[in-house]
Amino acid sequence: MTGTQRTAIVTGAARGIGAAIALRLARDGFAVGIVDLHADQCAQTVAAIEEIGGRAVAAGADVSRPDQAADAVEHINDQLGGALVLINNAGVTRDNLLFKMTDDDWDSVMEVHLRGSFLMARAAQRCMVDAGWGRIVNISSTSALGSRGQVNYSAAKAGLQGFTKSLSVELGKFGITANAVAPGFVVTDMTRASAERIGISFEEQVEKAVARLAVGRPGRPEDVANAVSYFVSDEAEFVSGQVLYVAGGPRG
Ligand code: NAD
Repeated sequence: MTGTQRTAIVTGAARGIGAAIALRLARDGFAVGIVDLHADQCAQTVAAIEEIGGRAVAAGADVSRPDQAADAVEHINDQLGGALVLINNAGVTRDNLLFKMTDDDWDSVMEVHLRGSFLMARAAQRCMVDAGWGRIVNISSTSALGSRGQVNYSAAKAGLQGFTKSLSVELGKFGITANAVAPGFVVTDMTRASAERIGISFEEQVEKAVARLAVGRPGRPEDVANAVSYFVSDEAEFVSGQVLYVAGGPRG
């Protein structure tokens, strides 16, 4: 199996949506490189993959740092075989109304989402180009369409959509597709933290979010992972430069 098994890299995969994507890709037959800020944070996701008979390695890296992003890709390529799939999922929020938003709130969100995705894609593309096959999926958000208190985050998530489309144009001739998944409200630590910040209970936040959704339930990390699984499949080779809203209702 090792000889033919493809490797996927998932950033921000210690928990939440990234962990669900990593587990799903392992179930789909990929060996998975788990990237998060510190290698020890990745242990739980690695163990979950090993429990189902999969292969995974952890790589500690701040994806917004060029040296760390490149080292993480190299480590995973060495340990699992050259990665042909990259999922840019690592993310942070630094929400605030415009007049209260600090320079650092702006910069840190741009750095993780945009610079991080760029650095990881630049480091990962070489193996894909050499193989003549590759898949890049960037995790955007419904916030790209406009969101109060999130001028930084919505700009970064809209930026990721343009980044995705340009990647698809540049890399298509090498058999590489690039797509984005834009989730709506998904229950994770990120949305828990935002409820805390706004000063409402998480239950109240979930209730308010669900009231706006056609499907009548909040998103789960697995909902996003299912969409990613499609984009990285062989069957999706004619689908590139797209943004799929996984948001429990019409968006985009
Ligand atoms: P989360 O906060 O639970 O997980 C994010 C992970 O990214 C964490 O493990 C964190 O350590 C890691 N990370 C942060 N900065 C990093 C860096 N510089 N380098 C490496 N790793 C880093 O968040 P989540 O809800 O699972 O979100 C995952 C992605 O989905 C993010 O890009 C987020 O913006 C996006 N998203 C989430 C929702 C939602 O409702 N939860 C909706 C739309 C989009």
